[in-house]
Amino acid sequence: MACQLPPRAVIREVGLRDGLQSIATVMPTDRKRAWIAAAFDAGVREIEVGSFVRPRLLPQLADTAELVAYAKTLPGLFVSVLVPNLKGAQRALAAGADLLLVPLSASRAHSLANLRKTPDEVVAEVARMRAARDASGAKTLIEGGVGTAFGCTLQGRVEPDEVLRLVQALLDAGADRVSLADTVGFADPQSVATLFERARRIAGDRLWCAHFHDTRGLALANVYAALQVGIARFDASLGGIGGCPHAPGASGNVATEDLAFMLAAMDIDTGIDLTRLLALRKRLSTWLPGETLHGALARAGLPATLATAV
Ligand code: ZN
Repeated sequence: MACQLPPRAVIREVGLRDGLQSIATVMPTDRKRAWIAAAFDAGVREIEVGSFVRPRLLPQLADTAELVAYAKTLPGLFVSVLVPNLKGAQRALAAGADLLLVPLSASRAHSLANLRKTPDEVVAEVARMRAARDASGAKTLIEGGVGTAFGCTLQGRVEPDEVLRLVQALLDAGADRVSLADTVGFADPQSVATLFERARRIAGDRLWCAHFHDTRGLALANVYAALQVGIARFDASLGGIGGCPHAPGASGNVATEDLAFMLAAMDIDTGIDLTRLLALRKRLSTWLPGETLHGALARAGLPATLATAV
């Protein structure tokens, strides 16, 4: 069966948040600015620049407000931040972020470990964030990101019906967007197609993004499955860095450069210049000495057909 793939797709770079949060060495703010600037230069137009959690909890991400301010100076860059609670949302609104992503874990065990709240308590917090957003008059969008949507290291199976109940609950609470995340690499292309299709029926165009980790090597296959059911926005981190401190064994996000390569090879426009992106990845490897970067494109290089095309 031939499927109509979207002609365009958006890659949201999440390395500065999802990637760096699991890395102990604090990256200096200047370097993060250089990363944002170079990613922008390579054609990336959506970046999650950090997280508004308590700085003492995550010193690596304490400079998020500064990074939002900087990123907002780049014309046309859509700037996302992660927020765990109302206080974080208020900081994101004050900073002028374009979107605040609220992580919710469909696994109750992961939710309690990661956020110290049940999934439904997070939904209630989203309603409070929506009220704060509306009262502030800000245009900031609220995205509810349902994590461990395909299974959980702590809990094991996560029922698709529960994931979809939470998608509906987030929308009812006032989330403008919802997304599904395979936080620990349990998804496979079949489960991705099925769950995204069902979520689409609930959320329509408000189903915003797919977030895959390459823990078991299936991230790109999962992207392809999501593309086939019409998803056209994907989170990715440069060099495939990232993981989850509360999901033991979880390795990195799908590598931005490998994803951009796959989409380019399939003639799906992302606006990304692969040569520039690979040059940035090389710089990133010098910025993170001792950290393992992932991804196949950086090892093999661009095939001649694409190297000349971009
Ligand atoms: Zn992730």
